[in-house]
Amino acid sequence: MRRKLIAGNWKMNGARASIAELSKLEGLHPDPASEILICPPVTLLAAFEGKTSIPLGAQDCHWETGGAHTGDISAEMLKEAGAQAVILGHSERRTDHGETDADVARKTEAAWRAGLLAIVCIGETEAERDAGETLTVIRQQLQVSLPQGATAENTVIAYEPVWAIGTGRTPTLDQVAEVHDDIRASLEGRLGAEIAGGIRLLYGGSVKPANAAAIFEIANVDGGLIGGASLKAEDFAGIVAAAETQRSP
Ligand code: PEP
Repeated sequence: MRRKLIAGNWKMNGARASIAELSKLEGLHPDPASEILICPPVTLLAAFEGKTSIPLGAQDCHWETGGAHTGDISAEMLKEAGAQAVILGHSERRTDHGETDADVARKTEAAWRAGLLAIVCIGETEAERDAGETLTVIRQQLQVSLPQGATAENTVIAYEPVWAIGTGRTPTLDQVAEVHDDIRASLEGRLGAEIAGGIRLLYGGSVKPANAAAIFEIANVDGGLIGGASLKAEDFAGIVAAAETQRSP
């Protein structure tokens, strides 16, 4: 059985005082069939470490262990700061910082090297969907962004349609199912059924307490990557509750 993962991406939001919001999530997941993760800005990772039992992750890393890379942070540094996971290739990184699939692959290898769970994000733009290119784009991103060596223990894939992030718009349930089924099939082709069958596939893009249950019911959806709704403990708790009513096969 794949444990559902509900991961919150705080993006560039929060302050030290946000520990109060995080504390509201303590003890939130009594159901062993699901787990949660909060990815705050990196400054708060260090500030929260040791002050919460909520597993923490980061939102990006550099591929090198160290060196002359002003403003960057290595996977090893994130690990030392308390991260257990790192989001990689988020569409905002791809758009704002020009990250390519090849960059994401190097970062994923760095995350594995440091012992972090890599949450590798892929997703089509609205223009690509309108052009009927969604599956082609997703397959290409997955092929290049994911290096050799992915396992259920070191990797989670997040399907995040770019046009659904922060917009309040979501694909239909059939559209989510189609992409997730295709990602699973691609992983099977590459890694074999056993390894591919253990890798969790998250959906991300305007997930709210109101729509979470229907999305999490989809067979190959193993949880969610949550942006805006992760900033308020009540909303995030509502999404976690929706996940706990579901069981992945
Ligand atoms: C995200 O940024 O990963 C995301 C899914 O954002 P939102 O939930 O706000 O659409």
